[in-house]
Formats: sequence, structure tokens, C-alpha cells
Amino acid sequence: MEGLLQRYADVAGADAVTQLRQLAEPLQGIRVIHVNSTRVGGGVAEILSQLVPLLQELGLDVEWCTIEGNPDFFACTKKFHNCLQGAGDRPSEQDLRIYEKINAENAERLKAVLTEADVVFIHDPQPAALIRYFPERHGIWIWRCHIDVSHPDRSVWRYLRQFLKEYDASIFSLADFARALPHPQYLIAPAIDPFSGKNCELSQNFIEGVVKDFSLDLNRPLLLQVSRFDRFKDPIGVIKAFRLVRSFFPSAQLVLAGGGATDDPEGGAVLAEVRAAAAGDPAIHILELPSDAHRIINALQRAAWIVLQKSTREGFGLTVTEALWKAKPVIGGNTGGIRLQVINHHTGFLVSSPEGAAMRIRYLLERPEQARRMGEKGQKYVRENFLMTRLARDHLTLMVSLLRQEIERIDTTQWKS
Ligand code: UDP
Repeated sequence: MEGLLQRYADVAGADAVTQLRQLAEPLQGIRVIHVNSTRVGGGVAEILSQLVPLLQELGLDVEWCTIEGNPDFFACTKKFHNCLQGAGDRPSEQDLRIYEKINAENAERLKAVLTEADVVFIHDPQPAALIRYFPERHGIWIWRCHIDVSHPDRSVWRYLRQFLKEYDASIFSLADFARALPHPQYLIAPAIDPFSGKNCELSQNFIEGVVKDFSLDLNRPLLLQVSRFDRFKDPIGVIKAFRLVRSFFPSAQLVLAGGGATDDPEGGAVLAEVRAAAAGDPAIHILELPSDAHRIINALQRAAWIVLQKSTREGFGLTVTEALWKAKPVIGGNTGGIRLQVINHHTGFLVSSPEGAAMRIRYLLERPEQARRMGEKGQKYVRENFLMTRLARDHLTLMVSLLRQEIERIDTTQWKS
């Protein structure tokens, strides 16, 4: 058995890997393309950087392409993102023209690769309009939505829907997010790779080194939230909760670790708001990390006593999965994909306000044994549900099923049935 698959057999079980091989068998030789808008930063890039090599090792001809945009384009798609998650300024007519123009340019750039593909996965709204420029496409096109679209701004949804309805299928992370679309919709939760720099085991020496570099103290309560600086992640709410906890645990430390995603233009403004809210408090450590600081984030997650993800909207929340995998109790916003992972009172606590978060932080700091047990449950829960082997299995199953349904429509000479 090859490298990645062998390692997966060790953690997810040999049966899981055998099943992947069986599912991959009829897909040998098909050409699969994933398209998103950034190679670094955010959950989608994190998933694709692990899923693509795994599918390649299973013998599929998979390629990951990213679209290219300019600041105006990403400003528009960030407005989409905010409006689809239910809050924010709508894009102007001019924004929409830029969105379509950049999609048209990328369609031209990716023409050969997308025209020939048997299966195309388009991730999130940024490249969603590409489909308009491929009326003669031969493959199956699937829109993969990673964000919380349970309560979208209606006009933005209506605008995007004109593109989305052209797809052959769509995938959402949660049943709550599925929308009325004229094609089959599938529910697939994201997953993490236990061997990536973000999640692999680390030596105690390395963890202590990182803790020291950031002037943290392993012997004092350490609270952590890892997130892009995005208002939906509610970093200000985390600071409020921390201030409430400090009156009971004066030695507590808070780390807000984040960095930019190249497709997120609002990070700088939100970071400035976070700095202002922290007001120079030396117990609040705001870390701006480069997008490849995977092991550093891993070490911070391992050093943390409690991990927070106090989002007010969350598509899935890979940071939650990462923390649970490291056996940390998670206090998460009662929203979206966090609810799939934080099983209230078992793997952590779901909260809806800074006061609620503070109460649960206090509760866990006062009961370290319970915190430890919750962490153990969380790790087991991730092992059973949110490892990359499960995600690869869902993708393979979906492709086998869709290709069999579409057997008449596409050229199947390229792949064995
Ligand atoms: N992440 C990172 N550096 C940062 C902030 C986040 O590497 O400064 C990673 C984080 O560890 C996780 C992903 O980016 O793997 C964020 O995914 P999530 O689903 O939590 O949120 P999204 O950013 O996609 O909304």
C-alpha cells in the first residue's frame, strides 16, 4: 500500500482504505477538476490541499485549479459571502459586472482543462459563474457550498441562483443549508487530515518552543481561538468573554491567532477592530500568522486548555475539528457546522453570547477532569466522523453515483465502468 493510504489505514482502519480502493476502481482514468479561489488561508484550501493528493493516490486524475481575481473582485465576493450568511452590504451593479468579467476571464484561462473534465467541483460563490461560459461542457458540474446559506439575503441568492441552477448537483455541509435548486443536493461534511502539519503529532519540545516564542505560559489557563479576522467569527465577543473570565482567573491568557486568506479583503479592518478591543492588554495575544504557519497553529491548539470558536455563522468550522482532534474541549457558537461537532455537554459547549461563553470557560477551568474527558470524547468523535478518509469516501461515492446516472450523456470511453 502506498504512503498516504498506508498511514490512513493505521489511523482510520484497514477496512476504510479497502473501501476507498473499491470505490475508486470504477473511476480510474476519469478527469476530475476542483476549482476554488485561493491556495492558502481558510477551510477550502485546507481541505483541497489534503483531499486532492489522497484521491490522486487512489488513481484518479485530479487537478486543483484556482481562479485569479483582483481586489475589486474579492471585495464583491466577500459581499456575497457576508450577504449569503445573512449580514452585510449588498454588491452594487458595478460589483456584479466585475464578478462576471473576472469569471469570464478565468473561463477563458481554464477553458481547455474545464472543457475536457469528466467531473468539475466548483467551490463557493467566487467561481460559481464559470459554468455560464461552458454551454458545451461534457462533464458533470457540481457546486460545493462551504458557507452557511440557511438565511441568505434574498436578492443576492436570486442573483447567484441563476448560475447555480445550471449545475448538475450541489453539495452542502449541513441539511439546514440546502436550498431550493433544480438538481440533486448532497450533504457532505468536511474533514481533516491527521497527518498534515496542522494536525500531526508534535514533540513537547516544539510546543514549548512555540509557547515561549509568543511569551505564553503553559502553566496558566490558555484560551485560544484560531480564525481569519472575520466578523462572523466574533473575535470581539471572545475578548468580552475573556474579560469576564479574568475576574475569576486573573492569570488566564487569551490567544487570537489569525491570518489572511488571499480571497478575504476585510481581514485588515477586522484585525484593527480586534486590536482596539484588546486595548493593549498584555494577557490578550493577537497573533498575525503567515498562511503556512500550520505547525505553529497545531502547537497552539495543543498548548491550549480550552479552544473557542465563538462564531455567529459558520459553514463548518475546521478549527473546531482540529481542536477536538487534539482532545481539547471546544466552546463554540451555537450555529451552522459547529453544531455538528460540538455535542453540547459532551465534546464541549454551545454558546450564544459572551456571557454564556464566559460561564462555560469558568465551568471547565474549575473542572479540569471533566474538561479532559470532554476532550477525549471529541477526539473519538472526530476519528469516527471527520477524517479525510470519510470525505474521500463521500466524494468517490458521489462521483460513482452521478457518473452512472449520466452514463448516456458523457463520453465514458475514458474510464472503466
Ligand atoms: N487557519 C490558518 N491560519 C489562520 C486562520 C485559520 O491556517 O490564521 C486555518 C484553520 O486552522 C482551518 C482553516 O484555516 O484549517 C479555517 O477553516 P474554517 O472552516 O474554520 O473557517 P473558514 O476560514 O473556512 O471560514
